[in-house]
Amino acid sequence: MIDKALAIASYPNVIFCSFGDMLRVPGSNKDLFQVKSEGGDVRIVYSPLDSLKIAQQNPDCEVVFFGIGFETTAPANAMAIVQANKLGLTNFSMLVSHVLVPPAISAIMESPLNRVQAFLAAGHVCSVMGYWQYEPLAKKYNIPIVVTGFEPLDILEGIRLTVIQLETGKSHVENAYSRAVNSEGNKHAQAIIREVFTVGHRAWRGIGEIPNSGFKLHANYQAYDAETKFDVHDIQTQESPLCHSGEVLQGLIKPNECPAFGKECTPRNPLGATMVSNEGACAAYHRYGRF
Ligand code: SF4
Repeated sequence: MIDKALAIASYPNVIFCSFGDMLRVPGSNKDLFQVKSEGGDVRIVYSPLDSLKIAQQNPDCEVVFFGIGFETTAPANAMAIVQANKLGLTNFSMLVSHVLVPPAISAIMESPLNRVQAFLAAGHVCSVMGYWQYEPLAKKYNIPIVVTGFEPLDILEGIRLTVIQLETGKSHVENAYSRAVNSEGNKHAQAIIREVFTVGHRAWRGIGEIPNSGFKLHANYQAYDAETKFDVHDIQTQESPLCHSGEVLQGLIKPNECPAFGKECTPRNPLGATMVSNEGACAAYHRYGRF
C-alpha cells in the first residue's frame, strides 16, 4: 500500500495528507519524506477531518488522506468519508489500508511454523470492537487471549494473567482493561464502520494476503476511493531483501536475530514497517536495548 501512497503523492496537483509516522515507512525505493523533498505536497495531519478542511480550502487540488491502521482508527476515518459526502466534496478521497486483528490471529495460529502460545489483545482495538470476536479464537486454537491497556502496569498484568492461564492449562479471553473495554465495544463506532466500510482481503507486509483481514470502502462510497481515482490498484510494494519483518510479526525470530537489525536498519533508516513506529517490535527492541 505504501507504494500506492507514494505514486499518488507524486501526482501534480495532489495534496497528500497523512499521520506523521507514515512518512518514514519505506516503500520499494523511497518514502513519503523523499516525495516531499522532491516537491510533492505531503502534509502531516492529526485527524482525517483536517484533510477535509484542506480540501475545502483548495478546491483546485485533489486532497487524499492515507487511511491506515487497525480497527482503532477506522471510526474517525469513516466519519471523514461521511462528512465529505455531506459536504459534497468532490476533490477528497481516501487511500484505505485498514487491517483487522482477528483474521491475523487466525493466520498466525494456522501457520505450520507457528510458535505463538498466547496473545495480548490491544486495548485500543477492543475499545472500538469489543472482545467477543476473540472468544471463538481462544476456543478454536486453545490459546489464552488477554485484553490489555498500554501503561507498563497494564502490560505486566496482561502478561501475569496470560502466564497463569498457560500454567493452569486454561485458554479463554480475559479482560485486564475493564476501565476502557467491554465485550461489545463501542456500538456507535461499529455502526459508522459498517456504514462506510466492508471487509475484504488485505496484503500484509512481509506476510502476504490474509483473507478478509481489511476494510475497503463500501460500494456507496466508491467515489472517495483514491485507489480507483488514481488507478493504482496494480502497484505492489517490494520488500527489502534484507528485511525479515514477516518472521518477526509471526514470532519466528526476535528482531535482534535479523541480520540487518541496528546495522542497515535503524529507526532513523528503517527497512521494514516494524522498525518505523514506536509500537513496532523492531523499533521497541532497538529503543530499549533488548539484545
Ligand atoms: S530489523 Fe529492520 S530489516 Fe530486520 S526485520 Fe526489523 S524492520 Fe526488517
